[in-house]
Amino acid sequence: MKILDFRSDTVTRPSAEMRQAILTAAVGDDVFGDDPTVIELEQYVADLLGKEAGLYVPSGTMGNQICLKAHSQPGWELLCDRECHVVNYEVAGPAVHSGLLVNLITTKYGMITADIVRRSIRPKNVHCPLTKMVALENTHNHHGGTILPHDEILEVRKVCDEFDLIFHLDGARIWNAHVATGIALPELTDPFDSVSVCLSKGLGAPIGSVLAASADFITRCRRERKLFGGGMRQVGILAAAGLYALKNNIPRLADDHANAKFLAEGLAEFETFDIPMDRVQTNIVLANIVSDSSAEDVLAEMKQVGVLAVPFGPKQIRMVTHLDASRADCQEALERMKTVIN
Ligand SMILES: *Cc1c(COP(=O)(O)O)cnc(C)c1O
Repeated sequence: MKILDFRSDTVTRPSAEMRQAILTAAVGDDVFGDDPTVIELEQYVADLLGKEAGLYVPSGTMGNQICLKAHSQPGWELLCDRECHVVNYEVAGPAVHSGLLVNLITTKYGMITADIVRRSIRPKNVHCPLTKMVALENTHNHHGGTILPHDEILEVRKVCDEFDLIFHLDGARIWNAHVATGIALPELTDPFDSVSVCLSKGLGAPIGSVLAASADFITRCRRERKLFGGGMRQVGILAAAGLYALKNNIPRLADDHANAKFLAEGLAEFETFDIPMDRVQTNIVLANIVSDSSAEDVLAEMKQVGVLAVPFGPKQIRMVTHLDASRADCQEALERMKTVIN
């Protein structure tokens, strides 16, 4: 039985064409700045996002944490959505690496509004931490791949300018926001001082993230990357996969989005599930379990029939569509699930 894997868009495997790009990549020692393929990738992403410079890093986690560290001083306060990746899935990074105080904000679908930012800034007196940074995530993973409203992001930028706040974007899935909204990538990233994007999610590269920002800031990040142990040598073999992914796999994310809708509509027909349809905006489907079963029970039943997903809390599961999951696979998953779940 073929395993149908919807745990994440990170489970894709490099295609034959991508492996060919890896095989033929020109390489050099990237810590010396000598790897032509890494240099090409960094400039390619910077140009794509309308920023001055880029920096290749091994993971999105390292990318976010390098940015936070290069921007900040210990004791500064960072405003984040309560469900964000930077705080919930990066092993206390903001506290450990940067000594940041995090103010977790409850939001609708991941958007910290300009009004909330304004009201969260602490008074400047001897007692208070300095509120200095805001981080957003677009699309927002834990809210179900939701797209942040661009007009509101522009309003947050104005508040950042007024109060001298640094604005960071965890853009692991910014590609999905771009494809779903039709808003150009540089427009989506323009309000932010720094952006981290993933190549190993929907784009299908085996590894890697890229930071994009001003040239000065990227120089600081390069030093932090070495401190994090993220300086790599002939890493052009991986950067080549990233370039291939960027040049070939962005428009097809629309297929993942259509497949997620299809999957969500199919899951909505099960008595076991309630699907928050308004959150199905990109390639992620959250399914709330309304029967007596737990997420673990439901996942075990799905696993019996070769369909994989992950728990998102005790009564919720997440399924993610991706490059290696076709429409037929989604259809097949629903049919198999019907044999074990009501
Ligand atoms: C996957 C992801 C990251 C980075 O994850 P790594 O596994 O460290 O590459 C960052 N932010 C979001 C929103 C993500 O989904």
